[in-house]
Order: sequence, then structure tokens, then C-alpha cells
Amino acid sequence: MRQEYTVKTTAQMVRMVEAGLITEAALLAIKAAIRPGVSTLELDAIAEATIVKMGGHSNFKLVPGYFHTICASINDEVVHGIPSKTRILQAGDIISIDCGAETADGWNGDSAMTFIVPGGDETVAKARQTLSDVTEGSLWAGIAALATAKRLNEVGAAVEKHIRGQGRYGILQEYVGHGIGRSMHEDPPVFNYKTKVSGPHVVPGLVIAIEPMVTAGSARTHVLDDDWTVSSSDGSDASHWEHSIAVHEKGIWVLTASDGGAAKLAPFGIVPVDPRNI
Ligand code: MG
Ligand code: MG
Repeated sequence: MRQEYTVKTTAQMVRMVEAGLITEAALLAIKAAIRPGVSTLELDAIAEATIVKMGGHSNFKLVPGYFHTICASINDEVVHGIPSKTRILQAGDIISIDCGAETADGWNGDSAMTFIVPGGDETVAKARQTLSDVTEGSLWAGIAALATAKRLNEVGAAVEKHIRGQGRYGILQEYVGHGIGRSMHEDPPVFNYKTKVSGPHVVPGLVIAIEPMVTAGSARTHVLDDDWTVSSSDGSDASHWEHSIAVHEKGIWVLTASDGGAAKLAPFGIVPVDPRNI
């Protein structure tokens, strides 16, 4: 079989648990700070401080031309929004935060969550929460599929099936998930939608980030004048959820979740196995 990605040992996955937990801590610190009146640059500072305090550093800052610790994408912005002191959260906004951390010894984590800013119009907030729930649900459907998948395209098929079962949504195809390890972005590409190409075999040692990007309207997007921010072309709201997941001989472990994904995978009958206990 052709080597289509760098296989990680269980010992290396244990190092990646640390990267994942730092990333999760940064996102949870931001979650606690989400309220009307906060700027996305303040959220960026919270993530940076959390990562550094835990002995890591930002891997987003290692991306050429990017100078922040998070991407913060509000309402019709889907991904890659640049933090700014002039972007102030409003009641009812839907905001996705993408964040990553690298350990001192060079292992990477990458994760994204979507939040609804408290307050504002109740009907709008409810619709935005549903969009976030559908997107998060599709991520967990993809992770659950990974646990038993033989080929990688089973993940994207499960993500898309979940979203299609919830209603009419746009599923981005221009941006995809990826392998992760010594670098934040590695092979193989991970499609968050159904593809005919079966993709690489799923074998122990595969570590990937799955990251569905979903809109409440069309999947068409464009990049703003800042050369980074990806917005929905029809102005519809967007959500983005992401986790980094390791596949080993005994099962899977969600590296960017403290419980390895146990709570969210329980409905699928999947019990994640901690590589630190192997
Ligand atoms: Mg990410
Ligand atoms: Mg990613």
C-alpha cells in the first residue's frame, strides 16, 4: 500500500493528547468570555494567554502571513476571520472560533467551536443555535464513522448524511480537514462531504482533523478584501466545528476533548480508548 500519510506511534499520540488539551483549554476559556461588547482581539488574547500558560505556543502564528492565535468568524463569515479590536460581539451573533496549539516538543492540536452570543432576538438566536447543533452533530457523526471506517471517505459521507437529514444547508467543499502531527496541516486531506474517491485506508497511526463548515443557505463563498476571511456569498449564517482525532490499535481518541469524545460518542455506541492507558 502506498504511504498516503505519516503514521504516528501510540507514544506520539500521547504527546498529541497534550497538544489537544491545550487547544481545548484555549477554546473553553474563550467560551467563558463570550458576551456582547467583547472584541475578537480580546478573545485572541485570552487564547494566547491560555496556550502560553500551559507551556505551548500558537501554531496559527506559524502559518505564513497570519499573526493571530485564533480565527474568529461572525455570522456570514464561515472561517478564517481575523481578530480585530473593532470587531465587537453583538447580542445574538453566531461566532465560530478556530484555534490550535503546538507543544514545546512540536506536536499539534487543532479544533473549532461555534457559540451564540447571549441575548438578542430569540428567533434568530434559536435558528443560529440549530445551525451550530447540526454542524456539531455532523462532526460527531464523522468521528463515529472514523471509528469503524475502512476508507477515509466514509467520514465525509457520514458528515454529509447527518446534515442532509436535518434540512437544507450549504456544505462547504473548498475547504477541507487534514492530517495533523508535527505540522498542523498534513496529508491526507479529509473531505467533510461525500466523495466518490475512497481516499486512504484508515489504519492505526492515522491522526486527522475533521472540520465541517456549514451555512444556513448556499455553500458558495468568497474571500474578503483582507485576503483571509471566507464569507457566504448569499449572506447566510455559518457554523464551523472541528476536532483532532487519533486512530490506534485499540480504537479512537478525540485529542481535543478532555473525555476523548466519550460523552458525544456514547449515542453511537462508541467508547473511545485513551492512548495514555495503552
Ligand atoms: Mg482549525
Ligand atoms: Mg483544521
